[in-house]
Amino acid sequence: MTGIPTRRLVLLGSTGSIGTQALDVVSRYPHIARVHGLAVGGSRPVLVAEQVLAHRPAQLVISDETRAAAVVDAVRQACSAAGVPAPEIGVGADAVVELAGSLGEGDVVLNAITGSVGLLPTLAVLSCGARLALANKESLVVGGHLVTEAAAPGQILPVDSEHTAIAQALAGVEHEQIDHLVVTASGGPFRGRSRGELAQVTPEQALAHPTWSMGRVITTNSATLVNKALEVIEACFQFDLPEDRVEVVVHPQSIVHSMVTLVDGSTIAQASPPDMRHAIGWALAHPHKLPGLAAALDFSTAQSWTFEPVDEDTFEAISLARGAHREGGGAMAVYNAVNEEAVEACFAGALSFLGITALIREVLEHPRRPRAQREDGVEGLLAVEEWARATARAQIAERAR
Ligand code: NDP
Ligand code: MG
Repeated sequence: MTGIPTRRLVLLGSTGSIGTQALDVVSRYPHIARVHGLAVGGSRPVLVAEQVLAHRPAQLVISDETRAAAVVDAVRQACSAAGVPAPEIGVGADAVVELAGSLGEGDVVLNAITGSVGLLPTLAVLSCGARLALANKESLVVGGHLVTEAAAPGQILPVDSEHTAIAQALAGVEHEQIDHLVVTASGGPFRGRSRGELAQVTPEQALAHPTWSMGRVITTNSATLVNKALEVIEACFQFDLPEDRVEVVVHPQSIVHSMVTLVDGSTIAQASPPDMRHAIGWALAHPHKLPGLAAALDFSTAQSWTFEPVDEDTFEAISLARGAHREGGGAMAVYNAVNEEAVEACFAGALSFLGITALIREVLEHPRRPRAQREDGVEGLLAVEEWARATARAQIAERAR
């Protein structure tokens, strides 16, 4: 494996599902990246201390000010016990953005934060010129044109199994040769259920994903199909196509990670056993390949891969997102913000499972919903988001009464 540059790496969200798998990849292939900085929310102090000792970053940022003291204590104690210097520590959302924008060309930032709070760090990475390995799909979905216009060609490498698959399938394909993209969906734990059956499900059942092990929000989003809806929009921006050229197909085995159909009628697929380390390693090392990164498919035993249309009548998340994307003007920021509030409310027992997408629809249909103008930039989007969160919270409180 000669010729792979060792990039400085900033990892935002290092204690999460993607973050821990990324550090695993870096431990196994230490010549591809040297960990320069880590950013975390702050809920897992012991894990942060372990990561600091294992990877010795120069910088550490804790975004949640109320949790920072516990993390700082754990890290300083661990470093002093090991006889190594502690990293420079920053606290707060601004410090995350500063760390995100602190590198430059030839370096890489993996944004693995959950939620639209990842948008400002994404914009900071793009303006500093580093490669952006983007797991935080919300920043692309919410930021849309702002993000794509800030990015240099090829600067964003998607860390999402579907989009990583499409990027690989598109190698050597010209944009005008694409007919449409086919994004695969496992269908989540409630595939095949009727709306009546969905009315009974609990948040705990939503957390039992059939094929992937992921963070709590994305797992719930997979059950409502909001995750697939966000991924349709992510694909539109990442690959510069309208939503009616991004098809969704249910593929319960999660082996074909997505496909591209070309104008000549040929479909190109990328397939591998479900393992996010494949997407992470692809984005960190691109265009190099990491030998043995993840298990390959084994055709020595019989297997079947099945595909079926998605039931958009039962799961309205996708059609709502398509409408919001066609409209633009911050409608996707509203969609995502309401979903983030609704998922929290569902876990708090204040909203039913079906209530999540119902609330997204209601807030999108609100007669006084504000629009973000393109010239208002990121502030306009954040204002729309704030309105959407407040409106969603008020409607949740109303329902609970
Ligand atoms: P997790 O919830 O497991 O992890 C989120 C991480 O972000 C944690 O390290 C958390 O810290 C940290 N964090 C939270 N808020 C902030 C903040 N404001 N600033 C800095 N760090 C913060 O999420 P996942 O790893 O599952 O997902 C991350 C992103 O990747 C999401 O956008 C998701 O949609 C996407 N993705 C995930 C996949 C997966 O397989 N998990 C697959 C494809 C995409 P703390 O631990 O302290 O809370
Ligand atoms: Mg995905």
